[in-house]
Amino acid sequence: DRALRLLEPGRPPALVEVDRPVPRGTEVLVRVTAAGLCHSDLHVIDAAPFATPYTLGHEVAGQVARVGPDATGVAPGDPVVVYGPWGCGGCARCAAGRDNYCDRRAELTWAGVGLGRDGGMADHLLVPSARYLVPIGDLDPAQAAPLADAGLTPYHAIQRCLPALRVDATVAVIGVGGLGHVAIQLLRALTPSRVIAVDVRPEALALADKYGAHASVPASADADRHLRGADVVLDFAGTEATLALAARSLRADGDLVIVGSGGGQLTVRKPGPLPPGGRVSLPFWGTRAELADVVALARSGAITVEVERFPLTAAADAIDRLRAGRLTGRAVLIP
Ligand code: NAD
Ligand code: ZN
Ligand code: ZN
Repeated sequence: DRALRLLEPGRPPALVEVDRPVPRGTEVLVRVTAAGLCHSDLHVIDAAPFATPYTLGHEVAGQVARVGPDATGVAPGDPVVVYGPWGCGGCARCAAGRDNYCDRRAELTWAGVGLGRDGGMADHLLVPSARYLVPIGDLDPAQAAPLADAGLTPYHAIQRCLPALRVDATVAVIGVGGLGHVAIQLLRALTPSRVIAVDVRPEALALADKYGAHASVPASADADRHLRGADVVLDFAGTEATLALAARSLRADGDLVIVGSGGGQLTVRKPGPLPPGGRVSLPFWGTRAELADVVALARSGAITVEVERFPLTAAADAIDRLRAGRLTGRAVLIP
């Protein structure tokens, strides 16, 4: 088997030969059919927050290949997408399918599959339990894989501020990349609110227009004028510049949702840069039930991922292009 592995901190990932894992206990072996490339992969390559070595890939679709003796509910051949924010597996949150907010998250040495644990940029992926698998039916695997994060994370972020997303509300989407372009579609499908997209790249603004944003504006001084008074701001970049823009734009009693891990800082202070009544949240990924919802939305045609396909052997090219801002939508690696 082949796997795209981070072998040591500070070195780019390498496609290497590995032994095919054998599922034991409740484990399930998945033959990978598609694996999405996320901007978080660049963060973990650069900042090395987890011990190496491990295989990258936290957006994974595949087919069940083999099941461990104690695995239940899946059978070889089943097409699935992998729920990625693996937790401790034993706490109340994990038991409720909310592994993203596992009570032991601070003690874990990983954030999820492909993030400190072997992931799916490989021929096969070993999954600890069938409860991390969501059936996808006949959905194209290249569509299904990005749903695991680029679909699930914005869905979860939007669920948390649905009460604010009323008919007369304005929601700003900052950053129209892998997550942002799905966020726009989810907002259009799930809310009556007016969606304004912001990005620094013209191709990203074109993507926003294609997927239903009511307006798209370049991230320049002029963006302030369009965003002022936003009821909800979803920041998919999280840089110093976007957090400042988000804080300036937020209406009193508004929701600022920080999804991007761009390393920017925002001061919370009274009085300070945030408006009265402002709520700031830091959603992380999503729940298992929400992934099932996102798969259902994709199967119904309500959301479509803009995909650029690469063979697994061209992973380095895909990574370079993501880094250079030369991808639109999501890059998906096909083993
Ligand atoms: P991406 O590279 O596909 O998209 C990011 C977009 O932001 C790009 O279109 C880029 O042009 C735009 N952008 C960058 N700087 C900007 C600025 N100053 N103003 C406006 N737009 C700007 O990345 P992605 O895969 O969609 O991930 C987005 C971010 O979300 C990353 O930081 C990633 O690590 C993070 N992330 C967080 C979670 C979570 O659970 N909170 C989950 C997945 C990803
Ligand atoms: Zn991700
Ligand atoms: Zn847990």
